[in-house]
Amino acid sequence: MTEELKNKLIYKPKSAYDTAKAEDINDFCIGYKKFMDLSKTEREAVAFAKAAAEENGFKPFDRNAPLKAGDKVYYVNREKSIVLAVIGSKPVETGANIVVAHVDSPRLDLKQRPLYEDGGIAYFKTHYYGGIKKYQWTAMPLSLHGTVIKSNGEKINIALGDGADEAAFYISDLMPHIAKDQIDKPLGTAISGEGLNIIVGSVPCDEDSNPIKLAVLNALYDKYGITEKDLITAEISAVPADNARDIGFDRGMIAAYGHDDRICAYPSMCALFDDEMPERTCICIFADKEEIGSYGVTGMSSAAYKNFLNDICAVSGANFSAFCENSVCLSADVGGAYDACYGDAYDAKNSAYVNKGVVVTKYTGARGKSGSSDASAELVAKITGVLDREGVAWQTGEYGKVDQGGAGTVATEIALLNIDVIDVGVPILSMHSPYELASKADIYAMYKAAKAFFTL
Ligand code: MN
Ligand code: MN
Repeated sequence: MTEELKNKLIYKPKSAYDTAKAEDINDFCIGYKKFMDLSKTEREAVAFAKAAAEENGFKPFDRNAPLKAGDKVYYVNREKSIVLAVIGSKPVETGANIVVAHVDSPRLDLKQRPLYEDGGIAYFKTHYYGGIKKYQWTAMPLSLHGTVIKSNGEKINIALGDGADEAAFYISDLMPHIAKDQIDKPLGTAISGEGLNIIVGSVPCDEDSNPIKLAVLNALYDKYGITEKDLITAEISAVPADNARDIGFDRGMIAAYGHDDRICAYPSMCALFDDEMPERTCICIFADKEEIGSYGVTGMSSAAYKNFLNDICAVSGANFSAFCENSVCLSADVGGAYDACYGDAYDAKNSAYVNKGVVVTKYTGARGKSGSSDASAELVAKITGVLDREGVAWQTGEYGKVDQGGAGTVATEIALLNIDVIDVGVPILSMHSPYELASKADIYAMYKAAKAFFTL
């Protein structure tokens, strides 16, 4: 057999390093790390995206004003999700290229009555958000991010504990010396949900009852003017306090809290900003609540997004049904990268690998593809075709072995609108851990993939 024929017959995914310059990759990732350090919650990610959009000439969407080619608009849904749109030179009715990512990540939310004192220490009780391995959240610095609405309606945004100089927060774990009972338990039950209590203070005030709890409340009152009752109307999350940082002698990877799924949002947003006058209308949706099933008014199942697309059509004189039928969507969410240390959980022949570019996932789901939207052969061909044409490194990959579990994405919500949708995203390691890991080359490949998709 000739070399030529052999190369033609065998399929080999490209390396993300063969399709981009190291300098471009590194430059792009400097911006990404900045975004990550400022976007520890969906509210913060949305605020970042809104400010960046305004800098790039986007205006708030007005459902009473007509839109024309080249117009750039944004719509913020309750400060927790955002839609960015650039109107194309072709009629809106011919469809849009839509990228949907989510900007919420697994974390520990404070309960509505969080504060108590026990054993000489004050704690916040938590209720975890999204799929976490609870044992990973102990014995590490945490920061608090959120919003308090006081009884007079005043809104206070809190971001406390990030950076080495600020006081952080902490969940204790039992010392191994006396942890026989704990260590004998299965991993999933060794740390309980009710056990994830955050240490928030230890210095007593001059009171006989609850001296430490009162001291913490006094400190909160001094700093923010809030009382224990105000915590009931608050939305505060504990997240890892560490900022994004490079990993390895070669600095080839980035560890950060919340790659899933801000790692797809940021590159897509940058790609959209590059496109001054696309042929087709190009849209980015950064949704909330994906990690708990996309429910709620800010989740992808909310009519907010359908209504926005409908409004875009109305002010452009486009038929909404035709628009949906002609549109195509990347459900841009992370995939699981093959982890050789846990190789048994993967089908190595159908896994995504670090540094091989974005992962195109035809179907997600669990067991017999349950909960998957399963993209058509036509759509897989269309998307991989444009990635090839634009020189983007891509690969395919499933979550893991068929019987090992699985996952869902917002693709099912998009499909409800009769919009063709496929999952494409960055493969990551340690998904849903407090400090996830991704390759810089793959992050840059996501940016190139979104750019390519917007030319579709
Ligand atoms: Mn995700
Ligand atoms: Mn996730």
